[in-house]
Amino acid sequence: PVLRVALLGLGGYAKRVADAMNACQRAKITGLISGTPSKLQTWGELYHVAEKNRYTYADIDDLKNNPDIDAVYVLTPNALHHEHVIRAAKAGKHVICEKPMAVGVREGKEMVAACASAGVKLLIGYRMRFEPNTLDVVRRRMEGTLGPINFFQGQCGFKIGDPNQWRLDKQLAGGGALMDIGIYAINGARYMVGEDPIWVTAQETKTDFNKFKDGVDETIQFQLGFPSGAVASCLSTYAMNFLDRFYLNGEKGFAELWPATGYGPIKGKTNTGTLTFPHIAHQTIQMDEMARILLDGAVPTLAVDGQVGLQDLQIIEAIYQACQTGRRQDIDFS
Ligand code: NAD
Repeated sequence: PVLRVALLGLGGYAKRVADAMNACQRAKITGLISGTPSKLQTWGELYHVAEKNRYTYADIDDLKNNPDIDAVYVLTPNALHHEHVIRAAKAGKHVICEKPMAVGVREGKEMVAACASAGVKLLIGYRMRFEPNTLDVVRRRMEGTLGPINFFQGQCGFKIGDPNQWRLDKQLAGGGALMDIGIYAINGARYMVGEDPIWVTAQETKTDFNKFKDGVDETIQFQLGFPSGAVASCLSTYAMNFLDRFYLNGEKGFAELWPATGYGPIKGKTNTGTLTFPHIAHQTIQMDEMARILLDGAVPTLAVDGQVGLQDLQIIEAIYQACQTGRRQDIDFS
């Protein structure tokens, strides 16, 4: 069977997902949800979505009567994920939600709980967790060919443009670079090292107080400590280009991904040679794999469920606290 997906929030990333889904074997777009009637019409025609399967935000609850839709993919700005995920779950649909899953731990917990009590699955759009060269490194680490892991370095950032965009609005974004791009270093540290961190230290720097208002971080350097004793050193920024690099160091080998999280091709090498999997649009692989998870009960190599998204928010909260206090913070995963 094919996973029949309704896209909710028809912006820039939704467009990328929709185009990539043209190449999917197991997933297709059967619904659209938007606040803009003209988009419902143009996208509806472009992606062949029947008029009766086009909804405005006011009608999300009506999805429960629509047998043509198995899952809703939430692609709105961060602060809106909470409401949109909970409403889709209450309509009885599985939910795929973009990263960061929410703007805070409390919201994330409510989303996980709402999906559990509605009996639907919640998956987070962590596309790198399905990317073949990334998984190649993860497999080498799991097989032990890199030896015990001691160190990870993750550098994620770009120079952000338009100062008026929602990504620089604390209300809609929930923060700054860390919520948007630094989260790739956090999530990456977890799948590259293969453990969840237990403590963080962090330092924030800001050069442009007009563009990056209170609560919107420009640059944060942070360090993570893992139960094994491994450590990570990461950079999250909206003020520098060419930062998309992961480096993993083990006792018997190393791996580097550079670029590590962009739309691809993902390139990299280990101490024994270059990584060679060909590029396929990440969103194509992600949606086919998510169909296998939601319809076949497949268990992915790297989990992408709501709990994984929630844990990233718990780490983010600890990083923001560490920036404020200047002290090492234990991470509260409860
Ligand atoms: P965008 O601004 O291009 O699109 C957001 C959409 O939400 C727009 O269509 C907008 O009309 C709609 N919207 C609905 N209510 C809104 C409101 N109150 N204010 C503003 N917009 C509203 O943003 P985007 O880049 O597509 O990002 C959307 C989500 O996808 C974010 O959570 C982002 O973090 C995530 N994202 C993920 C990736 C990835 O690689 N996984 C890449 C880009 C974005």
